[in-house]
Parts: sequence; structure tokens; C-alpha cells
Amino acid sequence: MAKSKYEYVKHFEQDDRLLPGCWLVVRLDGRGFHRFSSLHGFTKPNDLRALQLANRCAETVMKDVQDAILAYGESDEYSFVLDRKTRLFGRRESKITTTVCSLFSAAYVLYWPEFFPETPLQYPPSFDARAVCYPTSRILRDYLSWRQADCHINNLYNTCFWTLVQQGGMPEKEAEETLRGTFSADKNELLFSRFGINYAHLPAIFRKGTTLVWEEVEIPVTTPSGESALRRKKAVRALDVDIIGDQFWHDRPWLLG
Ligand code: ATP
Ligand code: ATP
Ligand code: MG
Ligand code: MG
Ligand code: MG
Ligand code: MG
Repeated sequence: MAKSKYEYVKHFEQDDRLLPGCWLVVRLDGRGFHRFSSLHGFTKPNDLRALQLANRCAETVMKDVQDAILAYGESDEYSFVLDRKTRLFGRRESKITTTVCSLFSAAYVLYWPEFFPETPLQYPPSFDARAVCYPTSRILRDYLSWRQADCHINNLYNTCFWTLVQQGGMPEKEAEETLRGTFSADKNELLFSRFGINYAHLPAIFRKGTTLVWEEVEIPVTTPSGESALRRKKAVRALDVDIIGDQFWHDRPWLLG
């Protein structure tokens, strides 16, 4: 096509290609979800429907965005790991982050009624996104450990806070003061001795977040000749397991290979 005299404006665009050979992580976070969650009646401290909706959106991203090898979600955030060799959009940062972010946001609205059939959306939710390059598998693992540790710390705090308020009848301000300066051991003890709650027995999805990975599954099919058979297929699997220790990675050597 002939170029117009206006074509030169293209040169004002900045090169934002992400470093080659690095793992790419795109992290999304809900904008103003403190307000969004209370306005839409999320159960505190953990609304299972909201977590499952986010997982559904992340699965949509995994299936649609090529080279997404793993995703980790907790609270109102999701991190997507793209293969270190990905050539998606020539590794241009803005193309990658905006595509992942808008796909996730659109899915959030599309699937909302499936997870919140009784609760109409009051306004369009939005998410921010950033991309970070991690040069080694060790640092990528440390990144994911950081997010899972964050999930744990926040969840332990929020569980104590809302138990004091909901079951202890304590005003929110007082619950906040009660927890100020306490360590993990104190919080576990508070839950157990005052409310008979064993933190370790709470649902794993709340304590560990959700990790999505590609796994081969066998699905029963009927062959054209009418026989039953098993067909191998790749599917996105949701896990609520520890990803800080070695076991998870040891069991899936292909992930960081
Ligand atoms: P920002 O726009 O800066 O991200 P924010 O209000 O979204 O602000 P975050 O630090 O991201 O703040 O925290 C998200 C908040 O959303 C949590 O504090 C919690 O109150 C709420 N939230 C997110 N997911 C859930 C959930 N599944 N169940 C209950 N509450 C949730
Ligand atoms: P890419 O993902 O690279 O942007 P694309 O298919 O979106 O690929 P574009 O160059 O952005 O390609 O072109 C958008 C295309 O969408 C147009 O070629 C046209 O076919 C279609 N399209 C967009 N808006 C309209 C519209 N209002 N009416 C009809 N067709 C439209
Ligand atoms: Mg934020
Ligand atoms: Mg947020
Ligand atoms: Mg957040
Ligand atoms: Mg287009």
C-alpha cells in the first residue's frame, strides 16, 4: 500500500520489546476491589464465587494467549507466566499487557452472571496490568513464592479480622487494634483458643490461592465404529497446592525446562 505523508508519526512510537530469553510475567490486579467487593456483597474474608470467577477468566486467558504456561491467582490479582521463548506480539510489552488485561476484564463481565446470578453488576470492573521480565527460573520461582506468601499472610490476617468481627462481635476498629503487631503464631493461637478454628483446616483455595497449569487428560470418546476409547487432550487444570516448596516443580519438570 502507498504510504501517506502522515506515515512519519509512526516513528514517535517507543520500542517496548521485553528482554529476550526471560520469563515474562503479567500481573493483573482489580482496581478498587475493596469497594467493588463490598458493593457486590462478597463474603468476607473470602468469597468463593469471586475466586472461581477469577479462575474462569484466567483459564480463558490461558487458552487464548499463546505460550501462557502457568497462572497464579489470589484475592483480586492474577499472574500469568509466558514461556521465556515466547514471540507473542514480538514481545512488545504494551501489546501483551493490554491484550491479557482486556481479555480478562471482558471475561469477568461475560461470566459474572454465571457466578453471581443474584447480583447484577453495578459498574464495569477494571484491572491494571504490568509486565516483568525474570531472567532465571530461580527468580521466577521466587516471584511466585512471593505471591503465594502474600496470599498466606493476607489470608491469615483477614481470617482473624473477620472472625473477631463476625463471630466475636467486635467493632472493626477494635479488631484492627487487637491484631496490630501480632505474629503468625499469635494469629493461629487466637483463632484456635478463642474460636476453635484450626487455620490449617480452612479450604486450601483460601490459604494457597489457585495455580493453573496445562495438563494432559484422557477423555472418553466414541470412535466412528462405535467403540469407546480414551483420547488424550491438553486441558487447564486448577490446583490449590503449595508452589513454594520443590515438590510442585519436581512433579512437573517440563514447566521450567
Ligand atoms: P487497588 O486499586 O490499589 O488494587 P484495591 O481496593 O483493589 O485497590 P487490593 O490491595 O488489591 O486493593 O485488595 C483487594 C481487596 O479486594 C481486598 O482487600 C479484599 O477486600 C477484596 N477482595 C478481593 N477478592 C476478594 C474475595 N475473593 N473475597 C472477598 N474480598 C475480596
Ligand atoms: P489485529 O489483531 O492485528 O488488530 P484485526 O483483525 O483486528 O487484527 P485490524 O487491522 O485492527 O485487524 O482491522 C480491524 C478489522 O475489523 C477491519 O479490517 C474490519 O474488517 C473490521 N472492523 C472493525 N471495525 C469495524 C466496523 N465498525 N464495521 C465493520 N468492520 C469492522
Ligand atoms: Mg493494586
Ligand atoms: Mg486491587
Ligand atoms: Mg490486590
Ligand atoms: Mg485490530
